[in-house]
Amino acid sequence: MNDLANTPSDEELTDWDREHNLHPWAGMDGWRNDEYMRVNTASGIYVWDDQGKKYIDGPGGMWCVQIGYGREEMAESIARQVVAMPYASPWSFTTGPAAELAKKIADMTPGDLNTVHFTTGGSTAVDTALRAVQFLNNRLGRPDKKIVIAREKGYHGSTYLASSVTGKERFKTKFDNADIVRFLPDVNPYHRPKGMSLEAWCDEKIDDLEKMIADVGADQVGAFIAEPILCSGGVIVPPPGYHKRTRDICTSHDILYISDEVVTGFGRLGHWFASEDVYGIVPDIITCAKGLTSGYLPLGACILSDALMERMAGAEGDDVFYNGYTYSGHPVSCVAALTNIEIMEREDILGHVRRVTPLFQSRLREIGEKFDIVGDVRGEGLLGCIECRPDLERQTYDAHLQFGQKLDDACEEMGLLLRPFGNMAVFSPPLIITEAEINEMFDIMEAGLTKLSAQYNA
Ligand code: PLP
Repeated sequence: MNDLANTPSDEELTDWDREHNLHPWAGMDGWRNDEYMRVNTASGIYVWDDQGKKYIDGPGGMWCVQIGYGREEMAESIARQVVAMPYASPWSFTTGPAAELAKKIADMTPGDLNTVHFTTGGSTAVDTALRAVQFLNNRLGRPDKKIVIAREKGYHGSTYLASSVTGKERFKTKFDNADIVRFLPDVNPYHRPKGMSLEAWCDEKIDDLEKMIADVGADQVGAFIAEPILCSGGVIVPPPGYHKRTRDICTSHDILYISDEVVTGFGRLGHWFASEDVYGIVPDIITCAKGLTSGYLPLGACILSDALMERMAGAEGDDVFYNGYTYSGHPVSCVAALTNIEIMEREDILGHVRRVTPLFQSRLREIGEKFDIVGDVRGEGLLGCIECRPDLERQTYDAHLQFGQKLDDACEEMGLLLRPFGNMAVFSPPLIITEAEINEMFDIMEAGLTKLSAQYNA
């Protein structure tokens, strides 16, 4: 790449990307016409595109860049590990970084969640959790107890099993799904009937779960999988008390509770994990990824409780847990995670998130009050979502669905990236964001909404 004559031009890169790089979730309607913003450099909460334009990274990469971009310390520790030991087969060896990180994670997780199975990302962490459920119940001689209860709007990933338990967009795709899952209806308090209290909504959601277990038969249900907050579904925060009550129901029916903390883990809500510190539950399994390395390198983990491991190991027979990846416990990724955690501890990033959350959430709520085109704003910690007013749909359905994209476009012009999802836009900036930067971000969002209000004639 030192030879300038051989350096590809901007046009070539754009063409090559269109012609050869199939991005995630590519629409098949003319996918070769899609053009993605090419980002070349990044620092702190900002990214720069190939034209040198600077943006606040509202989505924080993909809900993952906790410590911000451009950390030399990350580069140095990653480089040292590459030179010392870039790869070791997890079937034959262990490495210092893998052992140290497993111990570190075990210390951070709630209760007796002490066994870490490293994966390549979030989907493979979820896949591992679901395979553990199958393995356990087959080993215990109850092969029917393997149905997974999941939720509408939940997102759990893109492998066969993880996508099968994903309750989002799945009916619109042409993929086949594993027949292992039953979906509970929407838990979004925003969609509760007019006049219904949050308590009554919670009761109804708990009822949904109890009825489904009764319907399927507790002896057939192996697990319940739930994100503490349904992030990709539009930052849906279930009603107060929901987590604890669902956990208790699962315990009483010997149904494993899988808490998918791929987004909420590693500081997003001001704690290492949200399950216990925010919602007061100790799950049987936690899955995590993303913020574990702040996105600097790929890594995920499926963390299993001691009680579960004892049952898995204690049953009759010498079965092998045939699950694992070439890159399980990749030493370079583990070093990235350890350095990321060290930075988060040294800079008290969890404390920082807790300190700036009130400003972030109050600026978000103000948007809900100020703009008539906004139907709902919601979030917790440094997670936020703006959803457009439902009756905009009556103006034109298309305009309703385009709201997220339109808001993103308006903000992008002013130097802020958001993540559009149909009639919503979501954001989860790097956790190091300062109060001044939070204000800058919300000022741009307000300017974007003012522009959109004119377009929607609201
Ligand atoms: N689980 C949750 C809650 C997620 O949000 C995601 C990705 O956004 C995944 C799992 C899948 O993670 P990955 O894309 O790293 O495979």
